[in-house]
Amino acid sequence: MSAGIYVHVPFCLTRCGYCDFNAVAGMDHLRSRYVAALLREADLVSGEWTEEEFVSIFVGGGTPTTLDPGDLKTLLTRVRARFRVRGDAEVTVEANPDTVDAVSLERLLAAGFERLSLGAQSFDGHVLRALERVHPPEAVRRAVRQARAAGYRNLNLDLIYGAEGETLESWERTLLETIDLGPEHVSAYALTIEPSTPLGRKVRAGLARPPDPDLQADMFLLAGETLASAGYQHYEVSNWARPGFACVHNLGYWERRPYAGLGAGAHAFRGDRRWWNVRPPEQYLQLVEAGRAPIGGEERLDSFDAYLEELLLRLRTLRGVPASWVYPGDAEPYLEGGLLEDRDGYLVPTERGMLLLNELVLGPASGPAGPGRRDAAPGARAIPGPGWPARTGPRTPPWGLLTM
Ligand code: SF4
Repeated sequence: MSAGIYVHVPFCLTRCGYCDFNAVAGMDHLRSRYVAALLREADLVSGEWTEEEFVSIFVGGGTPTTLDPGDLKTLLTRVRARFRVRGDAEVTVEANPDTVDAVSLERLLAAGFERLSLGAQSFDGHVLRALERVHPPEAVRRAVRQARAAGYRNLNLDLIYGAEGETLESWERTLLETIDLGPEHVSAYALTIEPSTPLGRKVRAGLARPPDPDLQADMFLLAGETLASAGYQHYEVSNWARPGFACVHNLGYWERRPYAGLGAGAHAFRGDRRWWNVRPPEQYLQLVEAGRAPIGGEERLDSFDAYLEELLLRLRTLRGVPASWVYPGDAEPYLEGGLLEDRDGYLVPTERGMLLLNELVLGPASGPAGPGRRDAAPGARAIPGPGWPARTGPRTPPWGLLTM
């Protein structure tokens, strides 16, 4: 069966105030041990994955490009040596603009990282400051120019909307600047406030304002219109791509294909089992260095929960679900209400349906952010985590969720 591999690198230059990912700043002294541990973990766990053919490798974080490109190359070589990775697999590395330059981008591409995902977030300096990002907008433009000059033909820009002080006009300028730079793929996530983050504490103390959900809904619709008019297909609630550039790795999450996870806090999934590594980098290092699989927990889904999860995940994408997956008549109100449409026997979300799904993930979802984390941008919850959808609710198909 086709599968993906997620590799987590937790190091960052600084910690952004809104981020609740497994990221650490000021722990550079752990980097070489961490790379050695990832290599060892690949050796330790690859024997469990001999049946799968891997069609994607995603190195995310944190900020993977805080590591030397030579270390990332060694890592990719080991993963390819230990797992059955297809020759044409999609290989992505995430980067922040201030951790790459012309030389490192050339080295990354030569090493086989053919897809580059840049954390741009905004082209408005005020918004970047509100998000506590350390790079100015110009750094993104420079990184994109350097990536193109290096030969990159598959670029993603990550954006976040709804920070304090951001207006619809400012968001439109960010979208237009993004389009001007011509990435093949754009991810745009609504900022959410996580209580455990510095921004969450500021909001609680009344020192910062939480995002306005109505404004974020308008921003979502504006992103849809603006990116569609520039030729991007809205193929998942938070993702747009030029034809042929949908992210293979993230589609694997939404289609519930298996994935292996390496690194601190990385998740893995296969069949009815989902499991995850311990989250603190030091604990991860200790376990792997002792020759032990660094597993921190696991859960098993019964068939009904698996069905619900697959239904909701697939409904986030334009691939949708076969109409035969639901009882005849159950989908009618949503088809008539313009939230879903029937395309050749598949139920797919309309733009309005995607807006409601977007609002759904901004609501009181349970569980931590998604598998391997890099299916979602910082501050967003684009993929349900363990335990979601709610396991205690009525055991009926989740159509009502579409109208929350
Ligand atoms: S948002 Fe990204 S760059 Fe900022 S701390 Fe989190 S993982 Fe690191």
